Amino acid sequence: MTKIVRSVAELRALVRGWKAAGDVVGVVPTMGALHDGHLSLARAAKADCARVIVTIFVNPKQFNNPDDLLKYPRTETADAALLQAEGVDVIFAPMPDEVYPAGFATTVSVAGVAQPLEGALRPGHFDGVATVVAKLFGMTLADRGYFGQKDWQQLQVVQRLVRDLNIPVDVVGCETVREADGLAMSSRNARLDAGARAKAPALYAAMRRAALALRAGRGDALDACRTEVLAAGFDSVEYIELRDAATLDVAATLDQPLRLLAAAWLGGVRLIDNIPV
Ligand code: AMP
Repeated sequence: MTKIVRSVAELRALVRGWKAAGDVVGVVPTMGALHDGHLSLARAAKADCARVIVTIFVNPKQFNNPDDLLKYPRTETADAALLQAEGVDVIFAPMPDEVYPAGFATTVSVAGVAQPLEGALRPGHFDGVATVVAKLFGMTLADRGYFGQKDWQQLQVVQRLVRDLNIPVDVVGCETVREADGLAMSSRNARLDAGARAKAPALYAAMRRAALALRAGRGDALDACRTEVLAAGFDSVEYIELRDAATLDVAATLDQPLRLLAAAWLGGVRLIDNIPV
């Protein structure tokens, strides 16, 4: 039976019991409104760890846009049923004041990898992410943390964070889960109307063509990709960029692990995606 826990004290008591029995503990941080992408992380955690905690917390500190926070879907009852079916041990779903009690004054800020792309376009976003992930690791006492490649830059930020602060958590990055038409699953997809939903797969399709063109040495591949996405009916493209996969620095050559990353607006929803090149 999956237990829903709201307080850090209760969570810690449970985890201490598990650890005393020698169990490896995995944590999957989420903001809820769960889909198959999230569930794939829970399954990966179940495969590796004797005990699995899924956290559900819509973290106000990582929303740079108040409207986005307000509109973020909240579906805890349905989420709990999905996690129960996956055999997750605990859902940790704290209230905001359990995570950020009165007097809370610390921000974890990662430089370098957190600065370009999402970091530049969503000021404060990665400070919010790094702060809450550091706290969730401290609260859950987990041995392993599972994150999606869907949020590639976030995954690199979390890797940097655990290395820099000697946080004893193994970070595992799991493949992006997509709809049958290629659209990367996202809780925000629920906000696309039927017309926008039909156009949405064009982003991934254009990115795949661009990745091939880049490998073939085509200098205009990124511009062509942007044009294609706009022609497919997207309202605007924030970025389509080729970057070093680990540092997110501008890629100097093609002989390093590279990632093509994009953010674009469609029907009032901001979609992001990334693929290897
Ligand atoms: P979120 O609830 O959006 O904060 O996401 C929680 C975790 O699920 C993050 O590590 C995301 O990268 C991951 N995630 C979200 N969408 C997907 C997806 N389509 N495939 C794999 N992982 C995902």
